Amino acid sequence: MKQIEIVIQNQTGLHARPARVLVNLAKQFKSDIHLQHKNKWVNAKSMVSVLTLGAVCGSEITVQVNGVDEEKAIAEIESAIRAGLGDDLTHDESKTIPVKIEAHVETPKVDEAPEAGVIKGVGAAPGIAVGPVFHFKKAELDVDDIETLQIGLDEALARAKAQLAELHQQMTEKKLGAEAAIFEAHSELLDDPELMQAVLARIETGLNPAKAWKAAIDEQAASIAALDDPLLAARADDMRDVGRRVLRLMLGVTEKGCKPKTPVIVLARELSPSDTASFDPEFVLGFGIVEGGPTSHIAILARALGLPAIVGVNESMLALEEKTPVILNGNDGTLTVNPAADVLERAKITQRRWLEYRRFAQEQASQPAISLDGVRVDVTANAGSVADAAEALHMGADGIGLLRTEFLFLERTTAPTEDEQFAVYNAVAETMKTLPVIVRTLDIGGDKPLPYIHLKPELNPFLGERGIRLCLNRPELFREQLRAILRAAPSGNLKIMFPMVSDIAELRQARAIIEELCRELNLPPVQIGIMIEVPSAALMADIFAPEIDFFSIGTNDLTQYTLAIDRGNSALASKHDGLHPSVLRLIAHTIESAHKHGKRADICGELGSDSAAVPILLGLGMDELSVSIPSVPTVKAQVRSLKIADWQPIAREALNCSTAQEVRGLVKKQLG
Ligand code: PEP
Ligand code: MG
Repeated sequence: MKQIEIVIQNQTGLHARPARVLVNLAKQFKSDIHLQHKNKWVNAKSMVSVLTLGAVCGSEITVQVNGVDEEKAIAEIESAIRAGLGDDLTHDESKTIPVKIEAHVETPKVDEAPEAGVIKGVGAAPGIAVGPVFHFKKAELDVDDIETLQIGLDEALARAKAQLAELHQQMTEKKLGAEAAIFEAHSELLDDPELMQAVLARIETGLNPAKAWKAAIDEQAASIAALDDPLLAARADDMRDVGRRVLRLMLGVTEKGCKPKTPVIVLARELSPSDTASFDPEFVLGFGIVEGGPTSHIAILARALGLPAIVGVNESMLALEEKTPVILNGNDGTLTVNPAADVLERAKITQRRWLEYRRFAQEQASQPAISLDGVRVDVTANAGSVADAAEALHMGADGIGLLRTEFLFLERTTAPTEDEQFAVYNAVAETMKTLPVIVRTLDIGGDKPLPYIHLKPELNPFLGERGIRLCLNRPELFREQLRAILRAAPSGNLKIMFPMVSDIAELRQARAIIEELCRELNLPPVQIGIMIEVPSAALMADIFAPEIDFFSIGTNDLTQYTLAIDRGNSALASKHDGLHPSVLRLIAHTIESAHKHGKRADICGELGSDSAAVPILLGLGMDELSVSIPSVPTVKAQVRSLKIADWQPIAREALNCSTAQEVRGLVKKQLG
């Protein structure tokens, strides 16, 4: 047995990032490895346990290793702890970086009283559903009665893992990578050695296995949740979700009694990934959810399934009687209760038209989007992986208008190497062949920490070292990514785009690096563009235009910075509207400046797939719309239905409206 005492020097103690590094390292050894702090001993191979050790900066911990590879294990663990477990110990200001997770936003409070018969929320997936209310409630799980146990814990765990593997497979087939990853993480939790030990210890004291399991899950989830960290809160939710799955199997409860058997509109306070995946899509017409914002798990899933959804809905929705007839409108985020016969009839017609329209759009997806007056508009996709690129192609995208490269850098303890990055960019380039792919350089910052990038704590991370600012401050990281993109460029049609540019000096500096790398690598030049996400860049677009090949307008951030509304705050979600005339004026100036210099202006923010915004954007002269993959066919279909020349004066009129609602009213009147 080997043992050392060591003082934790990390400013944040054994917080999530260093803990994950330590646990992953411990798992590489066969020996038993334990950590002690104060009087508590924990298994170093259990993330949950290491997190709950409570070791802060200056805590003395004992590392004890016992087994065949103990010598190597203790040496490597000691040096990893001394090196900071991925944290830079020389940065004494490296405190916890505030973390923002849009999928776990607080319950929004809708500040207007619901209109009579209409309950308000935020549209999260387009479409209209008409049907009876169905309240999703979780089944009661009685763990007290031993007689109700159908199978033992081992069998339940084995079946749960099989179910999770199947769900993972299904989600991967449906191209729902993020959902697939959730179920993979659930499966990993079932392997946590400390969790199993906590259950067995309780069984030994005489508790029945179901009660023991529930108590251990509740305890561990509560201790993680108590750490008051949004990232860890997500892990606590995962723990409860997977815990319930095992419990249901043990008790033989299939939640069937809670599942609709006829087509309904599902209303719930929240839906876990497991709840959502367990619905029979045949019987679900749409979702209305109290918790969460437009980027939450349920919103993403509903969009992928083609079902309308509203989120952040007023609590009063939960008091509706079962089977109450409602109209759920995923476009404007409303739930109309007990609609009058004529309103219901109109909604049914709209619903039928929407379904026909979507089917038709899908059939025509591979055709170019040419407006009624003969203007070809490129409709490209926003992608975040090689699999996305293949899916975008399948959905008829004319290219990738935004390749978010963050996915390569997240969930790792070291930066991806140049060759790793090259392999991915090259695969995307080869998948898209001659179609254009706009690769956006790393857009990471204080709001999304990476263990290998040390950021000073920031009071306002969204106004801090984000995007291009961060890359220019870390030339090696930036150069590696640029080298990888430039090397992959000849395999297809790659272009480079910089995020969060606010000053022309940033563009000039970044461009100079690319030119230098092209000379060094003897590679041809590539087109270079910038994202227009900051009002200063939009206002100075005429100065930027001669020095770029294209602009891509990121309305998610441009709206956030123009209106000073946090894009992830679901309480303000209804006010974060890119059709606000102030944002439209910035967009108009950007497009005019680009065209004056013979350059292109594209949009890659969510506004590009908003059906009320598409005619205005085209009326202002937008050359390309880069949208979420499932939206490609419907956006293409909408372009084909418009005469752009008719929308030019209306778009001009929109610039003189006073509110976003006025702009929406204008479009609605025009579209009839
Ligand atoms: C945007 O800000 O509109 C955008 C497309 O970038 P992201 O959503 O990745 O910040
Ligand atoms: Mg952005």
